[in-house]
Amino acid sequence: MAAQIINGKAFAASVRKKVGEHVARLKSEHDIIPGLAVVLVGEDPASQVYVRSKGKQTAEVGMKSIEHKLKANISERELLALIKLLNEDETIHGILVQLPLPKHLNEDLVINSIDPAKDVDGFHISNVGLLGTGQKSMVPCTPLGCLMLLRDHHRSLSGLDAVVIGRSNIVGKPMAQLLLGESCTVTIAHSRTKDLPDVIRRADIVIAAVGRPEMVVGDWIKPGATVIDVGINRIDKPEGGTRLVGDADFSSCSEVSGAITPVPGGVGPMTIACLLANTVTACCRSHDLKEPDGLTV
Ligand code: NDP
Repeated sequence: MAAQIINGKAFAASVRKKVGEHVARLKSEHDIIPGLAVVLVGEDPASQVYVRSKGKQTAEVGMKSIEHKLKANISERELLALIKLLNEDETIHGILVQLPLPKHLNEDLVINSIDPAKDVDGFHISNVGLLGTGQKSMVPCTPLGCLMLLRDHHRSLSGLDAVVIGRSNIVGKPMAQLLLGESCTVTIAHSRTKDLPDVIRRADIVIAAVGRPEMVVGDWIKPGATVIDVGINRIDKPEGGTRLVGDADFSSCSEVSGAITPVPGGVGPMTIACLLANTVTACCRSHDLKEPDGLTV
């Protein structure tokens, strides 16, 4: 039986709508406008596209959007000074430094200089620790988006076997923590995992966050399992040009799985929607106001 397609594009639109409604309420009832500052260092074309898209969607939901575009050769001292200013700016509730940074900048130092309460990417070591110990934190956007899709699809995730393929700090590890928080039995697989297909065949939920085009195939999937494909890979088409594919082979996986996210239109749109959700959450927390329901864990 063909899998149900999990429509991340539509779900992301519903998250943005909810964020927009909450922003309007913050404005009318408290005269507060949530603000997001995005810092881009250098001219990486992919990063420029992401930053443009983030700025546009931030403004569309009624929030204040600020972009700082900095030269690739900016010194670490100058960048840290800008982050200090943003930390102190009461009209800014979320700060995002677009990664990767040029090699001469210490990424960990820069990320950990952001006020954890404004760390809407959820990469600050304090937020990593809070998430790992099951406390209220800012949750990284992509895993948060995956969890929202899973919660929407499954009535309960408790007791399900989940395999997360990939152990990066931005996707794999926080994803595993979130699933553990939902009482899944979680396995994290990576490049050294022995017999990956066998590990994946046990899973009710497969999260593919590998960065290898169409690596996960239908033969590895337990019938009826849910496949969440985080991968974004651009590959050449035989007839010329390129197309986007995920880390799972959609055609074979969708024949076996119970539900699957497509690429594009699955996890991708959820990431920016969750960035907006995190910004409104950070704004509410900073003013000690009730957080919107369903926009965080
Ligand atoms: P990383 O490159 O940081 O991590 C990839 C992980 O996959 C590593 O842990 C690596 O293992 C593991 N891996 C690599 N090859 C294999 C293999 N053959 N078998 C098993 N595991 C393997 O990637 P990210 O986590 O940053 O991103 C993962 C994917 O998600 C990418 O396609 C990226 O483009 C996409 N992405 C999508 C986002 C979205 O908004 N939808 C946001 C962020 C990422 P090891 O640690 O052993 O090297």
